Amino acid sequence: MAREHILVVEDEADIRELVRLNLEREGYAVHQARSGEEGLQAVRLRKPDVILLDLMLPEIDGLEVCRRLKNDVDCRHIPVIMLTAKGEEADIVAGLELGADDYVTKPFSTRVLVARVRALLRRRATPEEEGQSAAPIQLHNLLIHPGRREVLVDGKAVDLTHTEFEVLRFLARRPGWVFTRYQIVDAVHGTDYAVTERSVDVQIVGLRKKLGAAGKYINTVRGVGYRFQEQE
Ligand code: CA
Repeated sequence: MAREHILVVEDEADIRELVRLNLEREGYAVHQARSGEEGLQAVRLRKPDVILLDLMLPEIDGLEVCRRLKNDVDCRHIPVIMLTAKGEEADIVAGLELGADDYVTKPFSTRVLVARVRALLRRRATPEEEGQSAAPIQLHNLLIHPGRREVLVDGKAVDLTHTEFEVLRFLARRPGWVFTRYQIVDAVHGTDYAVTERSVDVQIVGLRKKLGAAGKYINTVRGVGYRFQEQE
């Protein structure tokens, strides 16, 4: 198999080098871009498997790079992990809603970054996309049967409302991924038009309570949204 190819778009040389060394050590081929403009050119030239995109870039910033990539039919499928700084929650939300897949906050551990890259590549390999899959989802002590619309915690059935079920299924389908409130509303919209961004918080409170011991796996990501916890 050809080596998977990661593009790092980052204006800070130290971070670029650190990321490159660590990803190369894991066997990935790494290319670097020092600006948004260079990054866009590199994506079009080489079609990387994953893009690591710093948000604070001179001239064209990371969000704009992301917007252009996601508007380009040739590039929109390439997963994007945003590299962000503390306090950039609003930009993280904007980026996720533009179609970025994930983010890591600086200073990040390279181990975490490598794990995120690997997770994205793994998920890409099994593209059972958006809602259609009826396969049961087993996570921790939780079992979700989309076909039967049934949720079991430690083997015991939990009675969820329609919307609660949809929110849970949406989050649990991609454990570890952060979703904004808007993305959650958007995903469950077809089933209940009463859902608003604010009411997502209410749904989550209800869900956590009903899930009991499994409720802790729905994590609040402050200023950004929610995620289903991947690891114990
Ligand atoms: Ca920067």
